[in-house]
Amino acid sequence: MNDCIFCKIAAGEIPSFKVYEDDKVLAYLDINPFSPGHTLVIPKVHSSCLLDTGADTLATVMAAVRKVAAHLKTALPCDGFNILQNNGEAAGQTVKHLHFHIIPRYQGGALDFVPHPGDMAELAALADRLRFQ
Ligand code: AMP
Ligand code: ZN
Repeated sequence: MNDCIFCKIAAGEIPSFKVYEDDKVLAYLDINPFSPGHTLVIPKVHSSCLLDTGADTLATVMAAVRKVAAHLKTALPCDGFNILQNNGEAAGQTVKHLHFHIIPRYQGGALDFVPHPGDMAELAALADRLRFQ
């Protein structure tokens, strides 16, 4: 989709702090993380939200969400994680390309959903450390 920022990221036209990629899915750090390691997982093919996504694409993305979450748990490491997926402006969706948030959680740490503007150098270093195949 022409004006979709996540399509542009998927196509490599806009840089991202990539953590994981295969032929159908991309995962990258959120630039306004709720917690350290906050990662977005998207299908490369555009769909606007959950209800606009076919079952096959959804199954592929969910398998990737599981794979990336398992990796983050050991590689960060974190103690737990939330999966968040917003649908529609009323639900807080700001980017109209299906995406799943993986929000790492740390024992004794904050358990909120507040974005913190990320430090670009720190995000780059973290993505370099977390990237896997
Ligand atoms: P949502 O509110 O579910 O639509 O979440 C969209 C998320 O995308 C927000 O958490 C933003 O911080 C994040 N975001 C927007 N642009 C970028 C980008 N270029 N790279 C990484 N994350 C982004
Ligand atoms: Zn898109």
